[in-house]
Amino acid sequence: MHLTPLAMAVNVANAGVICLVTWSQVSHTFLLGWSAAICGLAALGLRGWLHGRGRSRRTASMRGMRRAVVQASALSALWAVLPLSLLAKVDTGAQFIVGMVVTGMVCAGGFALSTVPAAATAWVVMLGTGSVLALWRSGMSVAGGAALMLGLYCCIVIFSAWSWARSFGARLVAEARADRQNEVIGLLLRDFEDHASDLLWELDARGRFRHVSQRLASTLGVTSGVLRGLSATRLLSRAIANAGEDGVARWAALQQLMARGTAVREHLVAFAGVDGLSWWSISTHPLLDAKGCTEGWRGVAANVTDKHQAHLRLTWLAHNDALTGLVNRTQFRELLQTLLAGAPVQPLAVALIDLDDFKQVNDSLGHAAGDELLRLVGERLLSVARRSDTVARLGGDEFAILVRGAASPAELSALCGRLLDALAAPCEVFDLAIATRASIGIAVTSADGSGVDSVMNHADVALYEAKHSGGQRWCFFEPAMADAGRRRNALAASLRHAVERGEFSLVYQPQVSSGDGRVCGFEALLRWQHDEHGQVSPTEFIPIAEAAGLMPEIGAWVLAEACRQAALWPSGLTVSINVSAAQLEGKQSFIECVEEAAHGLRPETVELEITESALVDDVDGAVTTLRALRAKGFRVALDDFGTGYSALGYLRQLPFNTLKIDRSFIRDIVNDGESRVLVETILAMSRGFGMTAVAEGVERPEEAEMLRARGCDLLQGYLVSQPLAADQVGTFLAEWPKRAQDTLRLPAPHMA
Ligand code: C2E
Ligand code: MG
Ligand code: MG
Repeated sequence: MHLTPLAMAVNVANAGVICLVTWSQVSHTFLLGWSAAICGLAALGLRGWLHGRGRSRRTASMRGMRRAVVQASALSALWAVLPLSLLAKVDTGAQFIVGMVVTGMVCAGGFALSTVPAAATAWVVMLGTGSVLALWRSGMSVAGGAALMLGLYCCIVIFSAWSWARSFGARLVAEARADRQNEVIGLLLRDFEDHASDLLWELDARGRFRHVSQRLASTLGVTSGVLRGLSATRLLSRAIANAGEDGVARWAALQQLMARGTAVREHLVAFAGVDGLSWWSISTHPLLDAKGCTEGWRGVAANVTDKHQAHLRLTWLAHNDALTGLVNRTQFRELLQTLLAGAPVQPLAVALIDLDDFKQVNDSLGHAAGDELLRLVGERLLSVARRSDTVARLGGDEFAILVRGAASPAELSALCGRLLDALAAPCEVFDLAIATRASIGIAVTSADGSGVDSVMNHADVALYEAKHSGGQRWCFFEPAMADAGRRRNALAASLRHAVERGEFSLVYQPQVSSGDGRVCGFEALLRWQHDEHGQVSPTEFIPIAEAAGLMPEIGAWVLAEACRQAALWPSGLTVSINVSAAQLEGKQSFIECVEEAAHGLRPETVELEITESALVDDVDGAVTTLRALRAKGFRVALDDFGTGYSALGYLRQLPFNTLKIDRSFIRDIVNDGESRVLVETILAMSRGFGMTAVAEGVERPEEAEMLRARGCDLLQGYLVSQPLAADQVGTFLAEWPKRAQDTLRLPAPHMA
């Protein structure tokens, strides 16, 4: 409707043109009356337009539409009068002008009124009909053709007006909908700015704040008046610089991304203020002007400090050990991997450190004390290692140090010495002073490109060697050790199937009375015959089976088999069965296993031999289990006495029935005075505790004589017999009395 003034002006101007052109040929009264009517209607139209000017061009009432139709009808009727009354009366020149004006009015009016298609239709139909009628009545030679063309134009104008009106209407509806959406978005944004945790911001092309909310301003510590027009980088420069190198780099990266003109999603930046470090996630997109140039930025800033700190903590935990704060196994391996892959490869050494007696601390003082000790051990290792080295806790009581740079074996040895000394100095753990012993295995990387697995494996093999040579020492990896390690692995793999494949057997070594040579019983000793590995000594395969967790199964087989054989022997003979620490750990199931195996035997003929080292790991647990077995009538022997550390303590805690003196003492008893005194002391002690003393590894008659003279009860060793296969036991029992006197140099009257 904004065309109304122009349309009205055209109406008046055209009326004037018509008057001028036809003034001399038509009645002046008609012309003046007609022109006045046109001007009157034009004035009315103008008034209506002035009246409704304040309203949006998109809102039109039904009344307004009706008025437009009536006005258009009236005006077009007036214009239709013109050709009807004049065309036949004026000369050809005037006819031409009238025709042009009317045709122009049909078309221009039709288009001008197209926003109200009913008005446009009324206009075109009225004016068109009047003009066609006038042509028909004019008697002009071209009247028929002209009327036809005019009719056609009218149809086209009406059709165009309606179709344009339809698209105009659709556009109006879409614009109205967009307006409503903008209103809703505006409301939501206001609510967001007031209440959400995220901040909305808008910068102009030079990076100065443009749209600022109250909350954004107060978060940045200024008033919104000050903030508007302030450069974001200048305002935040100190907070960015205080966030350190990382903070500066993150901000620079954000600026680069923005300068590229692409949208940025959740870019993390850091600021440091009086409240400490805060982390913000920035998402933004460029605002483009009509030419597609960036005229500013709009975005959201979300405070993600808590989330980021939680993420940092998780990342830290993924790479560090929570208890000691040291690097963990994963991170240690990754670091080693990176250094090994670096060029040029720098020489490195990995030292694996394992505490020798940690399990004891854990078991006797509790896990809290164990944790505290591990923490202190971590601190001590850190205090000895150089800054360039990496100290890690790989798990349990196993630590590692990655030594960088070319350290000579002498330097590495010096480091290990310092480490062991540092650990040996007593640690204060819950008011107790604990000195820690440790074993260290060292592997040095070779220039020919060692992998992480091979370096770690070599250090592990060296650690095994250090541990099995008594602990509290370090060992460098040597290729020969790897062969030993490979053999251990192969044996462990074969041992898994040894029971089911029937590869085990037992041999029995007699124990005879030193006084009269009478056979008192046999010790069952395990033998393993493997197709590939041949006959393997129990001293080699039993520790491997223990480490591989196979001892409960193997031990159960030994118990069952030994008891089955013993049931076939003459009554009164004991069977001594060796038991390893791993079996004792089963506690109740172990007791049940013994009872089940020995159900056909009198319990006092079954003796369980436990070594001192089996007791070291879990004294209390072992003592309880062994007490329970004793309560059921079984006998318990302490094997290899004298080879452990603190046997006396165990003797007091657990009254063993039998004490077996290790053969290392017996071997030297004849020639070495010290060994002799030691054996005498052990024998006196066993008498004091009321225990039966058994001498192991008796090989010579002099040893037998000496032991008898000092009151040792039983003798066992090659002097009496090699361990015998099960089917040789009967023959031995039959033959032995004949040679006992000579073999043991027994005085004749005492022979049984
Ligand atoms: P042990 O219980 O102290 O067994 C005595 C070992 O000394 C046996 O070695 C035996 O053959 C050997 N021996 C006996 N008399 C003499 C002698 O006069 N001179 C010398 N030099 N050696 C003698 P073996 O059979 O090789 O067993 C070694 C160790 O393996 C045993 O020491 C025991 O600790 C362990 N073992 C053997 N069988 C079993 C078993 O069934 N279960 C468990 N857990 N350990 C076993
Ligand atoms: Mg034994
Ligand atoms: Mg022994």
